[in-house]
Amino acid sequence: MKTKANDLRYLNPSLGLSDVPEKATALGKEKMVRRKGSGPATAKCPSCGTVHSRAVLEEQLYVCPECKHHLQMPSHARIAMLADEGTFIELDHSLVSVDPLEFADLRSYRARLQEARRETGVREAVTTGFCKIGGQRAVLVVFDFAFLGGTMGSVVGEKIAHAFEEATERGIPLVSVAASGGARVQEGMFSLMQMAKVAAAASVHDRHGLAFISILTDPTFGGVTASFASLGDILIAEPGAQIGFVGPRVIEQTTGIAPPKDSHKAETLLQAGLIDLVIKRTDLTSVIAYLIGHLAKNKSMDAAAEGLPPNVKRQRLPAWQKVGLARHVGRPSARYYIARMASRFLELHGDRWSADDPAIVGGLAQVNGQTLIMIGHDRGGTPEEKAATHDGKAYPEGYRKSLRLMRLASKFRIPVVTLVDCPNAQASYESEHRGIAHALARNLATMANLPTPIVSVIIGEGGSGGALALGVADRVLMLENAIYSVISPEGAAAILYRDAGRAETVSEMMKLTAQDLHALGIIDTVVPEPEGGAHLDPAATADALRSHVLAALRIFDNVPTNQLLDARYKKYRHIGQGGKFWREKVRSGLSDVFGLLAYAVSRMEKSNGKKAQVGETTPRIRPEKARTSTPSTKRAVHD
Ligand SMILES: [Zn+2]
Repeated sequence: MKTKANDLRYLNPSLGLSDVPEKATALGKEKMVRRKGSGPATAKCPSCGTVHSRAVLEEQLYVCPECKHHLQMPSHARIAMLADEGTFIELDHSLVSVDPLEFADLRSYRARLQEARRETGVREAVTTGFCKIGGQRAVLVVFDFAFLGGTMGSVVGEKIAHAFEEATERGIPLVSVAASGGARVQEGMFSLMQMAKVAAAASVHDRHGLAFISILTDPTFGGVTASFASLGDILIAEPGAQIGFVGPRVIEQTTGIAPPKDSHKAETLLQAGLIDLVIKRTDLTSVIAYLIGHLAKNKSMDAAAEGLPPNVKRQRLPAWQKVGLARHVGRPSARYYIARMASRFLELHGDRWSADDPAIVGGLAQVNGQTLIMIGHDRGGTPEEKAATHDGKAYPEGYRKSLRLMRLASKFRIPVVTLVDCPNAQASYESEHRGIAHALARNLATMANLPTPIVSVIIGEGGSGGALALGVADRVLMLENAIYSVISPEGAAAILYRDAGRAETVSEMMKLTAQDLHALGIIDTVVPEPEGGAHLDPAATADALRSHVLAALRIFDNVPTNQLLDARYKKYRHIGQGGKFWREKVRSGLSDVFGLLAYAVSRMEKSNGKKAQVGETTPRIRPEKARTSTPSTKRAVHD
């Protein structure tokens, strides 16, 4: 699988790689920072115009002390920032570009390369190597925009592909920091082909279930954005960074229309659902360390055991009263539960397609030492929050975000916990037009086959397909005063009686309470709430929920994936065929049948005036026995 740079060079000399023997070089932090020839002595902040000395910028991680603008950062400073001190060992240090096409525009490519080396102190636009980040092994790929605009020629592509191969072979994550104008024109089609090469190397690394964290810095464009840099499990941008495929200036030149201001800004991309996070440079190292520490396979449950809270038997409340409690304005939201249950939560954003729907919150959580992907409908607390999250009525992009997070979980076999709380999925023209039905269906199918344990909790109002699209799970829990139904009671009353005012009557018939659904076999566990409802003691509710979720997850720890998926399939295949409710139904149904049979037999006896044979045998069949020994009867009841 591994392709040594040396071998490639031997096989294809036209790649434009020099034949200087390569040698790994260990570079300490001090040495990296104070490397000679690393640019001019001062630099002007492009945002506020203040001129800073290089010493100040090194000290401030190239963040302007005046206006906090994130300046472009030389690769050596970036490595010194990210890698644990003294751990960086450079790969392919001696690999340098030659001039495969003998290209010359105003000046020769060779002359430009020499000048770039002299000015930047690095030998190519990318530096790669092994290091530790927060004590964890990783391969690091760092661009230097000052070197020919960070363009990707053959050597850059080669070094990146080789870095991925080294990471794959060692089973370790790769972290890349991009800053690039795109392909290197002076290398023609050799340059374009690097996109395919690095994307292929990244996909092999991905296939091995290894983490790839991609950092996009100012600026990242063209063939780098449109290849490996967009393929990270997690995409992080620095504040204010310009990112895209084609830059705004080129768009204006090509189309004659200037794109909106900030069209390519990191913050705009975040809103557009294209990246996970915008992170300040000062926080970047700790976030990367957290991510590579948790996006790893073979992590079994190491959460501390928690005793389950006592299950207090309470007087059953009428369904309509529970509807009121489930919708109570003070009822804790998914965001509250996540914050209370997790010791650390890194929210991830976007569907990587079109938008970041605030009605769905999701990310990487640590709960009692256990790594989880937690996803929930977010209905907000205050009126402003409720407006922003459109009361949890998620658009297709919200469900697509949840799907993306579930796939991230499955890659690393991280258990998924979903918190369901929405009256319904978004019902609007926009939602239809963007494919809400498709998004819901895709979630159901993906959750049915997701090769990692899923625990779902109905925390408030579980309404229809929008709720179920986060609710297909190995274990379904439900808070005591939550409700879960195919339609709202008002909607049902409007359909059945043409009178939404009869919702209270209908709610009782709908069997939408946790207790009813438990009896029906639709949910597995009722999680008790404080007396009077979750809103009276949100913290206690969240603590009880944490204990129940961890207990449910523990059941599936170390269960082989095929067994897990088989059991999940059977659970949904046979839903409604177990539970107290159906046993009662079968019993009463059979009594009716035998009653009718007995009546028919007596009629026959009367009319025939003699004993019918069936009359001798029928009374001997006991309903109880028939229920357990006649699969066809059992089946018929549920069809
Ligand atoms: Zn500034």
